[in-house]
Amino acid sequence: MATKSSRRNQRLQASATEQALLELNETLEERVAERTQALAEANLQLQREILERARAEEALRHGQKMEAVGQLTGGIAHDFNNMLTGIITSLDLMKRYIAAGRIDEVERFADAAVSSAHRAAALTNRLLTFSRRQSLDRKPLDPNQLVSSLQALFSNTTGPHIELILELGPNIWPINTDTGQLESALLNLMINARDAMPEGGTLVVKTANHYLDASDLSTLEAVSSGDYVMLEVSDDGTGMTPQTLAKAFDPFFTTKPVGQGTGLGLSMIYGFAQQSGGHVSINSQSGCGTRVCLYLPRYHSPEAKTQA
Ligand code: ADP
Ligand code: MG
Repeated sequence: MATKSSRRNQRLQASATEQALLELNETLEERVAERTQALAEANLQLQREILERARAEEALRHGQKMEAVGQLTGGIAHDFNNMLTGIITSLDLMKRYIAAGRIDEVERFADAAVSSAHRAAALTNRLLTFSRRQSLDRKPLDPNQLVSSLQALFSNTTGPHIELILELGPNIWPINTDTGQLESALLNLMINARDAMPEGGTLVVKTANHYLDASDLSTLEAVSSGDYVMLEVSDDGTGMTPQTLAKAFDPFFTTKPVGQGTGLGLSMIYGFAQQSGGHVSINSQSGCGTRVCLYLPRYHSPEAKTQA
């Protein structure tokens, strides 16, 4: 009978399925164990690689730090030595002239010694600014007024072969900063621009109000969003290679011949920007000129706040 054979068939099928399930069950545990083992090994390998990478990064950072410290110490020692030589030689000559009774001629050596000592003092000042140990003598000031007042000094510094253009924006916010430091920062940027345009060119100094948010600048440090006044110095000179650009802010990094560059201009500007709660960014390309933007926080005067 058909029903009898089909029942038998069903039974046979059921037992085959049962057998297959049993086998699957047995090997399942084994396969799970294998897979777990493989994953654990992969995980261990990953952990090892992460650790290795962290160690390599740390070593690189340490190496870079030591290189920077070496550059810094070497640079300072060299500069200081030159200045001390100036002082010691002058004092030595003064002693000899005094011993020889040539008192009238002593003054110029005293002048030379004083000038060397002043240069040494200026160097420590710049270093202090860079290391942010120099206190800023802050005062509210009008950026446009400051830039205008420096125009004559700027054009004397850059010389007749460079066209100087001031683009002073309207209603520029006041800033609260150290006038002397800001002047010296701008002058340093002028000198850099001049040095980059030996054949002449155009130098633009621009002021503008700017709102910055955290993603606006490609600076090393984080940008706190807010209102800033931007002071921009741009030139159409030689520009910088990516290698120079990467090191431009390093203290004592210079591409200029001995006696012409100290490599402290941009590092001082960086320190000054940091200490002022501002930022500085450089855009530069070989052969296409350079644009340095200094952002200083907007100053809200107490009167303005009470009026508002
Ligand atoms: P220094 O002017 O004494 O060399 P800085 O810190 O002012 O030191 O500048 C460091 C280096 O950055 C310069 O030697 C130069 O290579 C590069 N640099 C700075 N400003 C400019 C610029 N406007 N155009 C081209 N290169 C520049
Ligand atoms: Mg310079």
